[in-house]
Amino acid sequence: MLDMLKAIKTFLLTDVKNRNETKELAVLIRLTCCIFILYYLIVGILIAFLQHYFMGLILIAAIGLLIGSFICTYEDHTFGGLILLNIVLVVFSSLLAINLGFGMDFHLPIFLVILLIFFNKSDAMKLKKWYSIGICILLMCLVQFCNAWTSTRVPKDGFSIFIQSMNILVFSTSIGAIAYSYCIKFNQAEDKLKNINDNLVKMANLDTLTGLSNRRHMNEHMASLVSEYNRSGNIFTIAIGDVDFFKKVNDTYGHNTGDYVLTKLATEFTNYMKDKGHVARWGGEEFLFSFENMNITKAYACMDELRRKIENMPMNFREYHFNITMTYGMEEFNNRLGVEATINRADEKLYKGKTSGRNMVVK
Ligand code: GH3
Ligand code: MG
Ligand code: MG
Repeated sequence: MLDMLKAIKTFLLTDVKNRNETKELAVLIRLTCCIFILYYLIVGILIAFLQHYFMGLILIAAIGLLIGSFICTYEDHTFGGLILLNIVLVVFSSLLAINLGFGMDFHLPIFLVILLIFFNKSDAMKLKKWYSIGICILLMCLVQFCNAWTSTRVPKDGFSIFIQSMNILVFSTSIGAIAYSYCIKFNQAEDKLKNINDNLVKMANLDTLTGLSNRRHMNEHMASLVSEYNRSGNIFTIAIGDVDFFKKVNDTYGHNTGDYVLTKLATEFTNYMKDKGHVARWGGEEFLFSFENMNITKAYACMDELRRKIENMPMNFREYHFNITMTYGMEEFNNRLGVEATINRADEKLYKGKTSGRNMVVK
């Protein structure tokens, strides 16, 4: 039983073949068709008891058309299926209302076509508005026609109350199904947008080669560190590191090897800085470190430890095996100086390190 239900669910949720059509609309049409096939079957049986054989035959035709609409959604014709479903709901609900009296609420499914037509993904909003107005006019004409020309042939007893209750039940169920589909469609669109937005934020914040934060993101991070400093007095120290003779690496082993070095350095930096602060790719072969909750003395000890790690880290790319070194300049942040001047001072010290022999940390 459970397996059968699962198989039915999978069948109803089958995706559309045509990429221009939406699965949600196809599923909604299928669900509505199923509800109305069942509904027309029950109504057909009930009115057969009242000896409305002609209406019974008409309902068989309605069921045939609903099956057609259902099949259309599997055969690349979802829009055709939608139109057919709309026609069935309008025509057969009107016929039932005219034949059996307006008071039994057979006209209610006509309201559904307004919701169905708006569910369809198309820019023809003007057409949809006119379509809705047309449906309202049709309903108004129908009520006038029924009041003027038809008499309720169904006796006003428990039977008619049952039919009316069933009509309201089917109408409410269909409205529920359509609202549910709207909700799913909306949620999916929202999730999709959120994913795209997350990716855009990532792309805006990360360096594509190394996966580290880029300069823009690091500037934002440092602004948040300054706020923290002002609010809670949390100190931090900034360091800039630059690969020594990196041009030589590129020239000797090729640009790809240079890229490999930058990526390997980024992994090492990320691991090392995990519990110490943040690291970003500041420029070509320059990296910026923020040692958080550390004064310059403590940060210097860390930076020098990392310098030694890098110096001893073997670089193995294809047939090339070599080592690189880096030079660093650092400065502790204080409010008098501001971030920009702190970075400039770290940069000046880096330059000093470069002119004093490289592979060192200058504080
Ligand atoms: P110094 O010790 O004075 O810093 O010497 P250097 O050779 O490292 O400095 P220089 O500024 O002369 O060279 C930096 C080189 O970094 C030049 C540039 O081609 C290279 N570079 C910058 N970005 C990338 C990159 O993304 N990939 C690779 N492979 N090389 C890069
Ligand atoms: Mg360099
Ligand atoms: Mg440089």
